[in-house]
Amino acid sequence: MFRFSLHKTDGSARLGEFETPHGVVRTPAFMPVGTQGTVKGMLFKDLEEAGAELVLGNTYHLHLRPGDELIGRLGGLHRFAGWDRPILTDSGGYQVFSLAERRRITEEGAEFQSHIDGSRHHLTPEGAVDIQARLGSDVAMVLDECLAYPATREEAAESMRRSVRWAARCRSRIEVLRSSSPPERVVSNAGQAQFGIVQGGVFSDLRCESADATQAIGFEGYAIGGLSVGEPIDLMYDIVSETARRLPVAQPRYLMGAGTPEDLVECVARGIDMFDCVLPTRNARNGQLFTSQGRLNIRNARYAEDAGPPDPACRCYTCRRHSRAYLRHLHLSGEMTAGALNTLHNLTFYLDSMKRIRDAIAFGTFDTFRQEFLRSVSRPAHDS
Ligand SMILES: [Zn+2]
Repeated sequence: MFRFSLHKTDGSARLGEFETPHGVVRTPAFMPVGTQGTVKGMLFKDLEEAGAELVLGNTYHLHLRPGDELIGRLGGLHRFAGWDRPILTDSGGYQVFSLAERRRITEEGAEFQSHIDGSRHHLTPEGAVDIQARLGSDVAMVLDECLAYPATREEAAESMRRSVRWAARCRSRIEVLRSSSPPERVVSNAGQAQFGIVQGGVFSDLRCESADATQAIGFEGYAIGGLSVGEPIDLMYDIVSETARRLPVAQPRYLMGAGTPEDLVECVARGIDMFDCVLPTRNARNGQLFTSQGRLNIRNARYAEDAGPPDPACRCYTCRRHSRAYLRHLHLSGEMTAGALNTLHNLTFYLDSMKRIRDAIAFGTFDTFRQEFLRSVSRPAHDS
């Protein structure tokens, strides 16, 4: 069963851990994104070695292909994919809302057309709970409405209040699944936790209203959604601060969809415990590497004869074994190993950064760490 323990705070930064049916996750934590039941370009053994304790699975994609019913029949996503550590699934809402013209939102839920074959589907709050129950993730998310940025106050308020009503329906549904005896066939992980999501756009009072209403329903953890969607960075940080302060101390706080290495440190400083983001994986496939000395793009001609590792401070296989010149050659040649080696490095950098954050909080030196980290990672590597 799910249990969060807060071990130590340093300013607003929090060191903790949570237990799930598939093991313990130390927080602050970064979740690599495993859209199709795999983290693109990575073997799970390398992900484990890099220190990933939790991955994110995308409900929308797995529901359409191969189908959550098939995955449920095969014992759930852990067994299907061969990943024994904890999994968090999103609700599918974010992808559905991204479909723009191919979806319609009503109070009942969202109707949408599959991006794969155009087939019509209906995603309701109850359906999102059932799909995630079949997948058997350790943490499931409620279905929420993802608001586009910018939105007016009225739009943000209406959308947030609908998300609260949907959250209540999601909670009712999971309580039915939990209390049914014998257990419902849809459940493939009896210890699954469910997190609520705070919305409200960039409006502080709406965020507070959403945080209070979501807590009143009651969840095992709370996420902040609808940020990192194009708003100015200082505004995002302000909303994160205000919202995190409004959430219960004794439960985990998850900032959805952020972010850059700077975002991780800045939002840990504001009381966030969990993150997910496609940046380290997607950018790796485009040749962008995050390093302890800043970002570098391996396509750049300046690396053509650079015999040094991508990041001299990194312990990953890519950095121990290969040069920038070789990685540039693989990338320009379109070799599959280019994406794989770059992804391994970027995820190792992200996961190592989280470990260094946790160590700094444990030692009570987080603020010093934060200043040094921001100075070093925020510059282009070739300036160093
Ligand atoms: Zn590396």
